[in-house]
Amino acid sequence: MSIPFVDLRTQYEALKENIQCRINNVLEHGQYIMGPEVAELESRLSVYTGAKHCITVSSGTDALLISLMALGVGPGDEVVTTPFTFAATAEVIVLLGAIPVFIDIDPLTCNIDVTQLEAAITSKTKIIMPVSLYGQPSDMDEINAIAARYGNIPVIEDAAQSFGADYRGKKSCNLSTIGCTSFFPSKPLGCYGDGGAIFTSDDSIAQTCREIRIHGQSKRYWHTRIGLGGRMDTLQCAIVLAKLERFDWEVAQRIEIGSTYNKMMDELGVERVRQKADRTSVFAQYTVLIENRETLQELLSLKGIPTAIHYPVPLNEQPIYRGYGLAIDTPVSTAVAKRVLSLPMSPDASEIINHVWAGLREALEHVSHDCESNR
Ligand SMILES: *Cc1c(COP(=O)(O)O)cnc(C)c1O
Repeated sequence: MSIPFVDLRTQYEALKENIQCRINNVLEHGQYIMGPEVAELESRLSVYTGAKHCITVSSGTDALLISLMALGVGPGDEVVTTPFTFAATAEVIVLLGAIPVFIDIDPLTCNIDVTQLEAAITSKTKIIMPVSLYGQPSDMDEINAIAARYGNIPVIEDAAQSFGADYRGKKSCNLSTIGCTSFFPSKPLGCYGDGGAIFTSDDSIAQTCREIRIHGQSKRYWHTRIGLGGRMDTLQCAIVLAKLERFDWEVAQRIEIGSTYNKMMDELGVERVRQKADRTSVFAQYTVLIENRETLQELLSLKGIPTAIHYPVPLNEQPIYRGYGLAIDTPVSTAVAKRVLSLPMSPDASEIINHVWAGLREALEHVSHDCESNR
């Protein structure tokens, strides 16, 4: 029995008719760039998150880049963020000549450790950029409060993994100045290619982002700022619209499967990423912390159970970022990166998690048996 790490096939089978109908509509009207589905999706997602504006863009990475450009980030500016994330988070900072200031993470949630935030703020701090890792928002109220105290530093939530998550009665992407998400196929709300979105309730930031998205034009062929070609395709917007049909069910499933996994891991005595009580995780990844990771991965793979590592090396220890980031000691990130292991997870995974659990139990027994016989 071989199982997928992310099951997009079952989702496609369930939504086939709607997806094909939506795609067909686009082929019929032929407005491949900025067609009516773009505005329709933006309006649906703005209602869903509660943010006044949604600006769809070409990817999650471009959502972050355009947001930083809109907030005027440039050479020498500092952006406080986490090193325990996907490279895109820091990449966009460096692309603009700014400096990522990496602060350490909370070992329980693997999100930014807010108790370290104030010490990292200087007169050059331009943005604070927490990541809602694995689908769970950071301590956004505390981060926003600190940002306000230091002269209203804008806060950008990298919500590429957390679209659909709740935090104290609000939705991820609507928790700070700007929220950025990704529609990469394997994210909680995915398209069939690249796509992303920027959320904000600030009219002027929204307008700036819209202009940057189309080469900095304030009107056709009138360029008032430096921009880029950052639009999301009409076809990809149509696919996300079709996927909204069962998105609420999918989020509920993710939460349910995550909590079943939690119980299973507690039973096995396996340490896991923790979720706080005042928020939900949409479990873009279901992640445990273990020893002997490579051996366990191999044993699971022999049983047809795929796993992944998010992420094996913190960004401040990556060859290229060592030279760019400010040197801050992040021992928790270093330690956690050696132990994290993500298990198969998707809204349609409820049939397979028993199999994953049994495989993991056998693999753990195998490893502990090997350790004993080596003594
Ligand atoms: C996926 C991801 C991104 C980038 O999104 P793309 O759509 O792939 O460009 C940025 N940040 C985090 C935390 C991500 O997981």
